Amino acid sequence: MIIAIDGPAASGKGTLGKRLAHHYGYRHLDTGVIYRAVAYAMMEAGAELTNEVLAVAAALELDPEKFGNPILKTQKVGDAASVVSAIPKVREVLVNFQRQFAADPPGAVLDGRDIGTVICPHADVKIFVVADPRVRARRRTLEARSRGEDADEEAVLADILKRDERDQNRPIAPLRPAADAHTLDNSNLDIEAGVRAAIAIVEAARASRG
Ligand code: C5P
Repeated sequence: MIIAIDGPAASGKGTLGKRLAHHYGYRHLDTGVIYRAVAYAMMEAGAELTNEVLAVAAALELDPEKFGNPILKTQKVGDAASVVSAIPKVREVLVNFQRQFAADPPGAVLDGRDIGTVICPHADVKIFVVADPRVRARRRTLEARSRGEDADEEAVLADILKRDERDQNRPIAPLRPAADAHTLDNSNLDIEAGVRAAIAIVEAARASRG
């Protein structure tokens, strides 16, 4: 089974995808990390983020061993990822990696922005996670502070809105729910309640298929 989790609030600390994968004994891929890794490679090389040739080269040299680097989680790298991920050729290069991950047994949970629409349009269950931007800003600020980063909630909110705008309006793989996605609003849910709500969606989808 493939479970696709998309939406502006799809990722974050204690990711829903990770918990869901654990619950079902599946593998998990936070696809945002891929774009973050490409962006970070560009930053380290001192490259212009919009440099297509260098971005494609960084995507081709993607090293999953580096996905655990905590610097990838920072706001700065996230912003850079949103720029790099809008380059069509970068997305093209990364499609196969993601599809291969999804296809390997026993099953997988992928979270990102275009899993249900582009990467795995035939995913068994699609969940589109949304939350009030103010709530997301609060969560991101607390996360950043827990990592020892300085974070101003208003600046984080402005950044979230700018990034959502960019993700939703890019011509390639824009952030939008698949027609058959189930929306999950976790504005008023803590992580545990969010996980339970997602499991309920998966179970209902499975039951309806018989
Ligand atoms: O989810 P996360 O905050 O790690 O993603 C960082 C950025 O990477 C997003 O703002 C988005 O621009 C991009 N991204 C994407 N497609 C995905 C996952 C992330 O374009 N599947």
